[in-house]
Amino acid sequence: MAEKLSIVIPVYNEEKSLVELFNRIKNVLSKLVIEYEVIFVDDGSDDNSLRILLELYENNKNLMKVIEFRRNFGKAAALQAGFKEASGDIIITMDSDLQDLPEEIPKFLEKIDEGYDVVSGWKYPRKDPISKTFPSRIFNFITSIVSGIRLHDFNCGFKCYRSYTLKNLKLYGELHRYIPVILNSYGYKITEVKIKHKPRKYGKSKYGFKRFFSGFFDLFTILMLTKFRSNPLHIFGFFGALLTLLGGITSAYLIVERLMGKYLSNRPLFYFSLSITIVGLQIFFFGLLAEMIANIKRDETHYSIKKIYKKDE
Ligand code: UDP
Ligand code: MG
Repeated sequence: MAEKLSIVIPVYNEEKSLVELFNRIKNVLSKLVIEYEVIFVDDGSDDNSLRILLELYENNKNLMKVIEFRRNFGKAAALQAGFKEASGDIIITMDSDLQDLPEEIPKFLEKIDEGYDVVSGWKYPRKDPISKTFPSRIFNFITSIVSGIRLHDFNCGFKCYRSYTLKNLKLYGELHRYIPVILNSYGYKITEVKIKHKPRKYGKSKYGFKRFFSGFFDLFTILMLTKFRSNPLHIFGFFGALLTLLGGITSAYLIVERLMGKYLSNRPLFYFSLSITIVGLQIFFFGLLAEMIANIKRDETHYSIKKIYKKDE
């Protein structure tokens, strides 16, 4: 294989794992005939992570890059920065806490060789406390239903991509959890592989229970950005029209009653009808506004070309 591999690794306070991680990666990859680079992104660590990375870098300049963030910007930002710097045809991401085993890298490359664009890891069995695995199950179940993608472990940090899949990706906040959903919406072929997982040996987990709440807000964002990116009125219009219609029906009923002599000002239905009509119309016009915004920036990101067949000029 004449291709190059880039491994992108976000690091936030993982000082104890880094040397072992790098050595194990080197060891695994030296057995494969593939050119590679390891890109560590120090996401504003306040332990010795950066110092250790720079020491490693001194002795491995041809195999390694280190990106230093000014402060902690989060895993999504770290991955995005790493992708930008990666020069490989294939890109692997993995966590830096030794929970993902470098020895599993060849499994991902095999799947890429089979022709998949994206290979997502499935931590099986997952070695984390129940306080993480339980909410995670719910998260995976809902994301799978809503997105229609059959993956068991969306948020696994261990993944492998053909580098072209990441070209148009804009990651920020906590959106790294939805990379498969975004890439699927572009039409890339995605599969998963079962990988071994280890309990965290050093340091602390950076994510608590809280992330699952923000995670679900992000699901709405992602739905908007993937399913309704080029036709936002389809979602706004649906709810707007539904409410307006309901408001119209109840209003008609109230008008008939009023004509028959009943007073309306003390009727809850009157206020209900009034508010849903107004809210419904507003949602509808929001949708039109969203269409205008979508129309201003109709760039290449709403479709993805696999290949163009044409005669050379
Ligand atoms: N991480 C990061 N920035 C952050 C939080 C986490 O770069 O703000 C990195 C962290 O160093 C690790 C990976 O993201 O390599 C996954 O974090 P962690 O192991 O704490 O998550 P968990 O495995 O507990 O879900
Ligand atoms: Mg971890």
